[in-house]
Amino acid sequence: MKFEIITIFPDFFRGPLDYGIVRRAREAGLIEISIHDLRVFTTDRHKTVDDRPFGGGEGMVLKPEPIFECVESLGIAPREQRMQPECRDSVVLMSPQGRLFTQAVAQELAKLDRIAFVCGRYEGVDERVAENLADREISVGDYVVSGGELPAAIMIDAITRLIPGALGNEASARQESFTSAEKAAKEGPDSTCDSGGLLDYPHYTRPADFRGIKVPDVLVGGNHEQIRRWRREKALEKTLRNRPDLIEKSGR
Ligand code: SAH
Repeated sequence: MKFEIITIFPDFFRGPLDYGIVRRAREAGLIEISIHDLRVFTTDRHKTVDDRPFGGGEGMVLKPEPIFECVESLGIAPREQRMQPECRDSVVLMSPQGRLFTQAVAQELAKLDRIAFVCGRYEGVDERVAENLADREISVGDYVVSGGELPAAIMIDAITRLIPGALGNEASARQESFTSAEKAAKEGPDSTCDSGGLLDYPHYTRPADFRGIKVPDVLVGGNHEQIRRWRREKALEKTLRNRPDLIEKSGR
């Protein structure tokens, strides 16, 4: 999987993508990350990447030319081709106005070969990038941050975890929160740990007694059937409390 990041702050990514699973996946050659400085694709002396909005209003807008130039320089498939379901290249515009990024979207994107992320700044990006260059517009949540860099890093991390071999223990991706019911069903009804689209169950480690707060007895009892039932119950309980919307979605 190749990730391309298009940004006006290339140094931003020193750090966030250099640790843990993402770092190991890079070192193992499972993923490759290239960072492209948008200013390199400007043609004027001042390396202008932004301009005032047509129609007036506050702030600045990222200009279309350097973004188009940059994406075109990557030799990525043209947009009409990318709009076809069998195409394995994607250009994603990071935007709070996009479709919501979920585990299901991460699973879909993990099947691709190459993803370019366009990171906006200021008031956003000239709409022609969304309409004529990107094939997806994605938001990481219903809030606004100052740039597309953190959202892109979040997506790269979530997608990388789903690439076969990226997690030390393959099973641990199946049991995680949000893992779709459909995917969990494939693992079989006996799977001890699929989340079935719900939140993950609670985890405990040593000490069994911490300041008098004890680990639930069932977990130290060694009865695997009981542990399995307890985990399901707790996952459901927590989902009901924190994310009742997921229960509706999973049709339980
Ligand atoms: N004026 C815009 C916000 C611009 S924030 C609006 O109100 O919708 C500047 C940039 O940060 C955006 O262009 C986008 O690339 C990025 N960004 C901000 N919030 C985001 C989110 N929730 N998901 C993805 N990208 C986001």
